[in-house]
Amino acid sequence: MNRRNWIALSAAALAGGRSRAQSSAPQPGQSQPPAEAPELPLDQYQPKSMLHVPETRVPRSRFPVIDFHAHITNGIPGDPANIRFSLEPAHCLDVMDRKNIRAMVSLTGGYGDGLRQAIAKLSSAHPGRFTVFTEPAWAKASDAGYSKLQADLIADAHRAGATGIKVLKTLGLFLRERGDNRLVRVDDRRFDPMWEAAAALKMPVAIHVSDPEAFFLPIDRFNERWEELHAHPTWSFHGKDFPANRELQEARRNVMRRHPRTQFVCLHVADAEDLPYVSECMDSHPNMHVDIAARIGELGRQPRMARKFFDRYQDRIVFGTDSSSSPSTPQQLFGDALYEIYYRFLETEDEYFDYAPAPVPPQGRWRIYGIGLPEAVLRKVYRENAARLLGWPA
Ligand SMILES: [Zn+2]
Repeated sequence: MNRRNWIALSAAALAGGRSRAQSSAPQPGQSQPPAEAPELPLDQYQPKSMLHVPETRVPRSRFPVIDFHAHITNGIPGDPANIRFSLEPAHCLDVMDRKNIRAMVSLTGGYGDGLRQAIAKLSSAHPGRFTVFTEPAWAKASDAGYSKLQADLIADAHRAGATGIKVLKTLGLFLRERGDNRLVRVDDRRFDPMWEAAAALKMPVAIHVSDPEAFFLPIDRFNERWEELHAHPTWSFHGKDFPANRELQEARRNVMRRHPRTQFVCLHVADAEDLPYVSECMDSHPNMHVDIAARIGELGRQPRMARKFFDRYQDRIVFGTDSSSSPSTPQQLFGDALYEIYYRFLETEDEYFDYAPAPVPPQGRWRIYGIGLPEAVLRKVYRENAARLLGWPA
């Protein structure tokens, strides 16, 4: 029996349990469970909502969009001379034209020659439609003289045409010191010259720190992302020597505090499950922004709190999807269907709909509610805030 089968729904067992709890004999009008109800593995359970509620299709956004968070390219670890294209620029442009997307930011552009290849095929070949961010040279982080080298690499990337810096969750969760193997802290002082170079060159820093809270908890029957973690076991940061979720976030906060001139875009709403905490951070750090990529599943299941958050921080929220080409993460699968869900969430007040184009909600079995943003807020979130960060015309 595989592990998935341990979580099996049995109509007979459920109904039997209920009737035992109520009384030992069936009540009048109570139907008897079928004698041999088949077991149904959880991964085959695809319940259809029976709600009769409006379903608004939003094929194009009401205003032009900058997708601030996409992975058209991917740096190759240990090979900065090359870059991998996970999405074809021509295919991107087709979808962009259909979906009213003015520009896409490919965050993972690597550095060095790889970065230059990404810029040549994206920003240079299609001016105004794509822009590319650079990434730190993590493999050199334990080298002597790394701090200065990294700041110089940022300046080199800027000269090559990179418009920002992307920091993957590598920092805090994977990057380890050569030698003693301990995890390098997000607020380690060796990165200070890099954060300052970003400020001097007006390059926003798109930073992903930590992950959903459930990824730091045991993968047990109480874990609301059991299915997601079961499908992606390496996403779990429970146990071992991983820092706690909040410790990682507070280290990010130290960085924003120490570098007030640097503009940080905390990806995935910084912590989409704890908007009171994110609000507290936004209030104390005016250089903090957030994107909504891959977190409408969280925002959309707390629509009233999310709507207040958008109203209050409407000048510091940017649109992003985290799109890539991987079918194993349908909530990030680049294509028309994904954008239509984001637009529906932001523009309509539709109720209880899927946050991902998938037969089963891939991050957890919940559905979402639209937040019906007013036009002035939509314009800012769709494009204006990102344009300001990128130094593009309003
Ligand atoms: Zn991403």
